[in-house]
Amino acid sequence: MEYMIGVDLGGTFIKAGPVSKSGNLLYEISIPSQAEISPESVVSQIGKAVATIREKYPHDRLIGVGIGSPGLVDLDGGTVKYPPNFKNWTVFRLGEETARVTGVGVEVENDANAAAVGEMKFGSARGMRDFIMVTLGTGVGGGVVIGGKVFRGQSGGAGEIGHMTVNFDGPQCKCGNRGCVEAYVGQRYLSQRVSDQLIFHHDSLINKLIDSGVEQLEPKIISQAADRGDAFALQVWKEAGMYVGVAIASTFNLFDISTAVIGGGVAKAGKPLFDSIEETVRSRVLSPLRPKTKIIPAALENSGILGAAALIAE
Ligand SMILES: [Zn+2]
Repeated sequence: MEYMIGVDLGGTFIKAGPVSKSGNLLYEISIPSQAEISPESVVSQIGKAVATIREKYPHDRLIGVGIGSPGLVDLDGGTVKYPPNFKNWTVFRLGEETARVTGVGVEVENDANAAAVGEMKFGSARGMRDFIMVTLGTGVGGGVVIGGKVFRGQSGGAGEIGHMTVNFDGPQCKCGNRGCVEAYVGQRYLSQRVSDQLIFHHDSLINKLIDSGVEQLEPKIISQAADRGDAFALQVWKEAGMYVGVAIASTFNLFDISTAVIGGGVAKAGKPLFDSIEETVRSRVLSPLRPKTKIIPAALENSGILGAAALIAE
């Protein structure tokens, strides 16, 4: 059997696995990324992960290794620039070095862009040529796919939907700007805002669900309360959906795109969040786009690995 290896490179762990050409992840391993040491040690860890997988599939044919990486990615040499939380890493030819260590072809792409490619090849955007991908997690990531290709911009940094301004006077975002989508719905910002507002909502179920303190206030707690009809929790998702929806509507108008695929841990909030995103987008896109507007959940469970592997299937 022919297979690809997808590598999801994170600041703490490398997750990797063999993926069939039809997009089945056969199994998954996780090893420390050693990002706190140097890019060379990260490459050596990726090499170990690839070697471990090849031992298990010695008679199959590995057709390439795809890496989804944080930071800016230049396709020339699979160069990764300034990945956040990686020590001693400025500009490094990750793809070229990994190819040298493993002896196979390597493709590197920014992790949010890789997730978009994964949804296009194997997930809920299959067959689509034009869509945007939004990942709602610790940060808010994005990718813009035009004509079946990721739109990369001048330096590979396009698609930062999370840093679109939705309120020019809004709260400080870690990027240095104010009022970015991420400054409202990035997981930590969201949890902080909810915990600040809780004192005005004594009757909210969220108070009961976080008996040992607000540090427990993860999105899934808000969802548990929303599922039980808690008015404040439902309001939180409605508001989050509005911020995300405003950014998506502007992106749709800018690119003449009408589909958004939404993934990431915070997207697990489901219906209350998606309904609000959809309502906001429909009320704000230009009228020719309105009837075509689609907001759909991402389909891939392991989008980090599958998206990276999809870079090879291209
Ligand atoms: Zn920002």
